[in-house]
Amino acid sequence: MRILVTGGAGFIGSHLCERLLGGGHEVVCLDNFFTGRRENLYHLMDSKRFELLRHDIIEPVLLEVDQIYNLACPASPVHYQYNPVKTVKTNVMGTINMLGLAKRVRARILQASTSEVYGDPHVHPQPEDYYGHVNCNGLRACYDEGKRVAETLMMDYHRQNRVDTRIIRIFNTYGPRMLENDGRVVSNFIVQALRGEELTIYGTGEQTRSFCYVDDLVEGMVRLMNVEEGAQREFDVHEPVNVGNPGEFTMRELADEVARAAGVEVRTRFCPLPQDDPKQRRPDITRAQRLLGWEPTVPLREGLKRTVAYFAERIKSREP
Ligand code: NAD
Ligand code: UDP
Repeated sequence: MRILVTGGAGFIGSHLCERLLGGGHEVVCLDNFFTGRRENLYHLMDSKRFELLRHDIIEPVLLEVDQIYNLACPASPVHYQYNPVKTVKTNVMGTINMLGLAKRVRARILQASTSEVYGDPHVHPQPEDYYGHVNCNGLRACYDEGKRVAETLMMDYHRQNRVDTRIIRIFNTYGPRMLENDGRVVSNFIVQALRGEELTIYGTGEQTRSFCYVDDLVEGMVRLMNVEEGAQREFDVHEPVNVGNPGEFTMRELADEVARAAGVEVRTRFCPLPQDDPKQRRPDITRAQRLLGWEPTVPLREGLKRTVAYFAERIKSREP
């Protein structure tokens, strides 16, 4: 197949491109390089089946493809709040452009949604039929509400135009190729631990997240894209599907795990909690298990070991 990956130069996108090329497909990667970098794709550039285009998805594009993975959007709060209006445009105008393309060339399209659609959840763990608890005008709204509209658009193009859509709700994902200055907690803690700095815990550190290793996430994403419709199915393939690791940790526990993986003493510093920071988050993955036969396989400790090795190498390669 010929497959388009928007945001393919980013953290998750680069792993997805690699996985799709490994499956024998032709891959067109489209990115505006806001948080993505060519370097994430250097090892794929020699492939004749790989093409990299600089393009911003808020502008329309015409390409002949069979499938579209729409990942383009900054994912770290630091980056998506840098230009919040642009974040909304990417999620709304960008998603309309990708859906328009899918409709025109009859491609199947998968939208990268997020656990942030649940906001600061009152239901725990979060099943897909929970409508969430989101502040529609706070600092996180450009991302949370942007992704909620992207889901709305996916369902409406499906119902109105019969576009073959899939929606994945991704929970916190980590692994090699996150940016050192990404701002998300796993990369922050690892880089701080490796540099001998204090780990910055926001708030009390009692808030929880559930961390999924990137290879597990990509496996779930590819399975969801390729699951076929069927009247006998228990779940509608067009409805959102949570993909994440149900192992839940407080940020204090995460700090301990990172220090252990990096082989250093844990030293922490408490910083103010950002606005609307969700207090707890854990996916209910029943739907992914039943629909896709998917479950995460990489425990946090193992995933952190691999991610620490990646950052250690990057930091070492920059030393004079
Ligand atoms: P990332 O920031 O590393 O990657 C995003 C990529 O999209 C970057 O390469 C960036 O340059 C590109 N991009 C941004 N705006 C664009 C635009 N307007 N046009 C073209 N390219 C654009 O983030 P990531 O962690 O790889 O996330 C990928 C997707 O997964 C995002 O849609 C994100 O919302 C979603 N997601 C990620 C997580 C996570 O924990 N990593 C959780 C939930 C959802
Ligand atoms: N966090 C932290 N220290 C950091 C960065 C983040 O304690 O250096 C906290 C943050 O307040 C949140 C959790 O870690 O409670 C996860 O933050 P991240 O930005 O990684 O993801 P999100 O909040 O989008 O789930």
